[in-house]
Amino acid sequence: MSDFLTSLAAIVGAPYVLTSPEATLPFFRDYGGRFQGRGLAVAKPASTEEVAAIVRLCNAFQIAVVPQGGNTGLVGGSVPYQDNAIVLSLSRLNKFRSIDADNFTMTVEAGCILEQIQQAARDAGRYFPLALGAQGSCQIGGNIATNAGGILTIRYGNCRDLVLGLEVVLPSGEIWNGLRSLRKDNTGYNLKHLFIGSEGTLGIVTAAVLKLFPDPGLRETFFVATESLENVVAFLPVLRDAFGENLLAYEVLSRCALDCALEYNKSGIEPLATRTDWTLLIEICGSSESGALRQQVEDVLALGFEKELLSDATIAQNEEQARQFWTIRESVSDAVQARPGRSIKHDIAVPIAAMPGFVRDAVAAARLILPNVEAAIFGHAGDGNLHFDLVKGEAMPVEEYLSQWKQVNHAVHDVVQNYNGSIAAEHGIGFSKVGEMAQRKSPVEMELMRKIKAALDPDHLMNPGKVLQRTDI
Ligand SMILES: Cc1cc2nc3c(=O)[nH]c(=O)nc-3n(C[C@H](O)[C@H](O)[C@H](O)COP(=O)(O)OP(=O)(O)OC[C@H]3O[C@@H](n4cnc5c(N)ncnc54)[C@H](O)[C@@H]3O)c2cc1C
Repeated sequence: MSDFLTSLAAIVGAPYVLTSPEATLPFFRDYGGRFQGRGLAVAKPASTEEVAAIVRLCNAFQIAVVPQGGNTGLVGGSVPYQDNAIVLSLSRLNKFRSIDADNFTMTVEAGCILEQIQQAARDAGRYFPLALGAQGSCQIGGNIATNAGGILTIRYGNCRDLVLGLEVVLPSGEIWNGLRSLRKDNTGYNLKHLFIGSEGTLGIVTAAVLKLFPDPGLRETFFVATESLENVVAFLPVLRDAFGENLLAYEVLSRCALDCALEYNKSGIEPLATRTDWTLLIEICGSSESGALRQQVEDVLALGFEKELLSDATIAQNEEQARQFWTIRESVSDAVQARPGRSIKHDIAVPIAAMPGFVRDAVAAARLILPNVEAAIFGHAGDGNLHFDLVKGEAMPVEEYLSQWKQVNHAVHDVVQNYNGSIAAEHGIGFSKVGEMAQRKSPVEMELMRKIKAALDPDHLMNPGKVLQRTDI
């Protein structure tokens, strides 16, 4: 192995090859610490050419390559689990290559942090509409590799909808330059879509051309309280009729999820006077006159009360208050993880109208296994995407609760399947859902995926064991 490490250091420079346990630990453990991996080293290249040279070297030594961005993924996908593997960290590929404000595009390297991309777009008088709780540390390469969703998907789509072109280092070590900034291009198969959402199993994204948008303008942010998930479903078309495309975010929190967030943010004040089982955080944009937009919001809230869909509402009075509202929402994921025993997580999507039935059945299914669990449910209700996290009841020992993780996942995913939903709405399959996915996709779909993997990565060296099991190829 010393030959391999010497050659690796020759490519990236000795300071950028990490091998000691202390230095590699943060790269070998996933966000939240559920998945503790192991491997040979961490390599930190600074250019696409260096990435390609590393991949060729790994091919020669049959060493597996695990691409890693901000390591904020929640399914164990960015961590290696074998001795003969390296983490290839994209963090030094962080250049903003160009911005074309007139063509509404930006070309960035994979290691650029999402929040910095949003800021760079704003600095150019443009808007990049991918937004999620981990935006201060996740990287655009990771967002593309997971086809990230987030809070603005209802208006702008998933990451897939925001990418015009890609540069990818293939498992062979060749570089595919697909950095096109075209809005229309039907020349053959659209290869970029193969890599978007492939979770680092088909190649390493090194750069991307992103779509930019005009700034959405004035915004109004408001919390509403409601008694049922049926009301959450019924209020959505009321808002869509009123605001059309200008509905930016429609985020739901169950009582337990909101309580976790308020406890976690010690300064977090209960946003609404009325305690209900469900709360929505909504953001809309539009009219150039602030008074007119506020009036429209008040009108639609009045309609919601009239239809008996809402129990209470509060509109942020200024940007600072809107920020505080969002802090509550964005902290839920970490807040739930901070509970004793953390939480048994699910990232599911069902047709919007099926959300109430899904939650009823999934809570019942989980409680057959763990009678005292509470459901901290939060997420992107406008997309039918719920993070269905189960927190431990007071009396249950942590070990007993955690020992049921897989069984509970399976039972909840059965319910998802009954509602024709997805067991991985936005976080991906990673390491944790490989078996669950294989049991639920049709043989035809699994076989197609295996053939694609085998065609691009015959030696299964690119993020092995993620998305597909090795025995699958
Ligand atoms: C608090 C919190 C909130 C979150 N909210 C959301 C949300 O609203 N929506 C959402 O979709 N996700 C959310 N996530 C999950 C996570 O942030 C996203 O999956 C994100 O896109 C991962 O980016 P990353 O850079 O951290 O990737 P990593 O975690 O480093 O990697 C994720 C996967 O992508 C692969 N990968 C990383 N970089 C590359 C690359 N350059 N080329 C090829 N493969 C690569 C890895 O091998 C791994 O399989 C949240 C996470 C946290 C902690």
